[in-house]
Amino acid sequence: MRKTELQINLKSIKDNLNQIKNYTSAKIQAVVKAGAYGLNLNEVYNAISDDVESFAVITLKEAKALREITDKPILLFQGVHETKDYSDVEDLNLDFVVHSPWQFDGIEKFNLSNSRIWLKIETGMNRFGLHEQDFLKIYKSLNKEKFAEVILMSHLACSGDKNNESNQNQIENFKRITHNMPERKSLANSGAIFNFPDAHFDIVRPGIALYGGKYLEFGIKPTTKLRSKIISIKDIKKGASVGYDMAWTAEKDTKIGIIGIGYGDGFPYVHNPLNVSINNKTFQTVGRINMDAITIDLDGDESIKIGDWVELWGFNTDLTSFSSEFESISYRLLTNISGRVDKNYLE
Ligand SMILES: *Cc1c(COP(=O)(O)O)cnc(C)c1O
Repeated sequence: MRKTELQINLKSIKDNLNQIKNYTSAKIQAVVKAGAYGLNLNEVYNAISDDVESFAVITLKEAKALREITDKPILLFQGVHETKDYSDVEDLNLDFVVHSPWQFDGIEKFNLSNSRIWLKIETGMNRFGLHEQDFLKIYKSLNKEKFAEVILMSHLACSGDKNNESNQNQIENFKRITHNMPERKSLANSGAIFNFPDAHFDIVRPGIALYGGKYLEFGIKPTTKLRSKIISIKDIKKGASVGYDMAWTAEKDTKIGIIGIGYGDGFPYVHNPLNVSINNKTFQTVGRINMDAITIDLDGDESIKIGDWVELWGFNTDLTSFSSEFESISYRLLTNISGRVDKNYLE
């Protein structure tokens, strides 16, 4: 059997939730979209459900799967994608966002009295969100009795960058627009939890911090290790080229190790060499990332054997700096790992 696995430390995910709680007294909505950022919705749910007030997903399919296992609120972050989705919102008692005026068209046909409606306000990101004038019109005419609760929300574009002035502008806009409105409010994702205490309001919405992809400087722990066993070692001569496009040529006689993982497993397709770890020593990948294989220069090391583990990243890797080596982000690294990779969970 192929030995290629993503290890996921559920204890570290719990620790990250507790670390978030050290930074805020707001209620916690766990963002578990995209299969809990690729780490598996059910497993993550079991690890943290007791300590959060609600969950957020994007698709109805995710919401249905989650409703099978929880009675807690489940928010559709983009609300409905077509009006008839409100019938599932009604049946499953889902919370939903309204970010566009069209999402009110035909809504009166449904009984949404068990749903919390989250009105999303445009404060500067210019993606989802009702423009101030639309929001105020809707807010005034909304029959609040028809919903379990009305919650006011927005989203920061640059929360990971403490020095970016747009954050204060967005926070000020949100405060100004919702000033004097008695409803509960929500603005902060992971970055804002650590960088902007005045953006916490009533409910915070951490995603990446739970999964350890960012904010290690705030005591967040990485939660994953990606590794694969060596399935071939071969001697090559100085001047020999390796793999597709013969993209790498040996400058001296050496050994090439091959592992069975590639972009078909969601590993990024990068051209530059990456550091990997074998028996606590660092080596470099060479040539192209293949669909099903990666080649490594073993630098003549005689101690490495077939079956040794190669760590592509580990429980000490800062995935933000790792992914920045190939112009990616930790979010993408985690959500891309495909179903072909075994996922094994540590408690
Ligand atoms: C994805 C998402 C979050 C979580 O963001 P992180 O940076 O992963 O903490 C919060 N709010 C909204 C609206 C989102 O789409």
